[in-house]
Amino acid sequence: TVAVVLFTSDLRLHDHPPLHAALHAADEVVPLFVRDPAVHAAGFDVPNRAAFLADCLADLDASLRRLGGRLVVRSGPVAREVRAVAAACGATEVHMAAGVTGFAHRREERLRKELDTDGVRLRVHEGVVTALAPGAVTPAGSDHFAVFTPYMRRWSKERLRDPLPAPRAVRVPEAARGEDPPERPAGPDLSPDLPPGGESAGRDRFARWAEADLSRYEDRHDDLAGDATSRLSPYLHFGALSPVEVVRRAREKGGAGAQAFVRQVCWRDFHHQVLASRPEVSLRDYRSREDRWRGEEEAAEDIAAWREGRTGYPVVDAGMRQLRHEGWMHNRARLVVASFLTKTLYVDWRIGARHFLRFLVDGDLVNNQLNWQWVAGTGTDTRPNRVLNPVLQGKRYDPDGGYVRRWVPELADVRGSAVHEPWRLPEHRRARLRYPQPLLDLGEGLARFRQARGRD
Ligand code: FAD
Repeated sequence: TVAVVLFTSDLRLHDHPPLHAALHAADEVVPLFVRDPAVHAAGFDVPNRAAFLADCLADLDASLRRLGGRLVVRSGPVAREVRAVAAACGATEVHMAAGVTGFAHRREERLRKELDTDGVRLRVHEGVVTALAPGAVTPAGSDHFAVFTPYMRRWSKERLRDPLPAPRAVRVPEAARGEDPPERPAGPDLSPDLPPGGESAGRDRFARWAEADLSRYEDRHDDLAGDATSRLSPYLHFGALSPVEVVRRAREKGGAGAQAFVRQVCWRDFHHQVLASRPEVSLRDYRSREDRWRGEEEAAEDIAAWREGRTGYPVVDAGMRQLRHEGWMHNRARLVVASFLTKTLYVDWRIGARHFLRFLVDGDLVNNQLNWQWVAGTGTDTRPNRVLNPVLQGKRYDPDGGYVRRWVPELADVRGSAVHEPWRLPEHRRARLRYPQPLLDLGEGLARFRQARGRD
């Protein structure tokens, strides 16, 4: 018997329930990845993520070859390609991970319907993309938790399954035909300092980081210059690492650092269960605050300055430049730049979210949109009107200014925390810096926001 395993956001061999089930049920298995033009049309395959994806697929193929198999890559509408492979190989089952977004749900439905007409069974596995499947825990009277803390309390009590081992051998039928895995793309949007993609790189990173930095995570995760967070987000986004395995391994290590880290992975599950229940909030407000945001036309210059990292607020500019250079930004910087765009500049969160998705190597509809909404106060934050002051945030989370100096070379000669307020430098020094004056006065931004939210 033959089974197909359709890989989507789960590009790994370790702890892979669909692959495990397929190998159990069938003598031969087709590990399949389909490059679906619908993903391209939706604009998700931007260069940074396409490069990381290419690494993931190359690594998956190499790992499968070591087990006697290979990855079968095809291009075309996903249902058409899966049916063609199943028919060519005489497969009776297709296994895949359950998705969360509206796009993933429609894909599943379509596959189920079309495969059904061929007499092929689709088996969708929960708990692959997240540690706990969306809907596994719910509050009384609702299909999802709208507040993080009670969600985490329930989430923490659930026992996660044991991670599954990687297979020892994979036999792929001769008749399974595919193309070469895609090449890494090039182009001006490709960040020069991207991390290497793939399960091997992800496992390696996790092992090294857990050994060296996990125990100090609680104290250091907000330290911008220390850069001590795991940087596992792109691996989790592409499923090159299993969230179940990451949580289980961190818990085995124990301690306050592990606890704080697991809490962050729980945020990821939290957002997934919100979006699974309310797929429309990838674009619409989760909770409308009746905002009349400024848009692309009205705020064109402010938006351009923000995107290009020349707002005159050093920590904002540092974050935005890190995003372009690495395709990644420290979480604390993401919070600051998002608050600055939405609350200080009063620009629609969707404009910021779109820019992030253009560059973030971990960029996804779930975590990106819902974090943007959280910051904009249209999401699940229980203090929707809080505004982060970029100067105070800089002084607190980058007290020596190392993060700013790393990303804003114009300020490289300004010592210590003075780097967060270059406008306070003596005039003769200020004039020599090729760094812009602040785009606007923070007090004015705050007043506009408070008035808009009816809190003045
Ligand atoms: P760590 O601090 O090491 O955390 C471990 C893991 O927990 C992360 O890899 C991530 O998977 C998860 N995690 C941590 N914080 C969050 C969070 N707030 N929400 C959801 N999951 C979290 N994360 C994405 O994965 N994709 C995005 O597109 C994304 N967009 C964001 C946009 C904004 C405006 C903000 C404020 C945050 C966004 N985040 C996003 C969340 C967070 O910033 C990143 O997950 C984190 O910075 C990744 O770095 P790390 O792996 O070193 O995190």
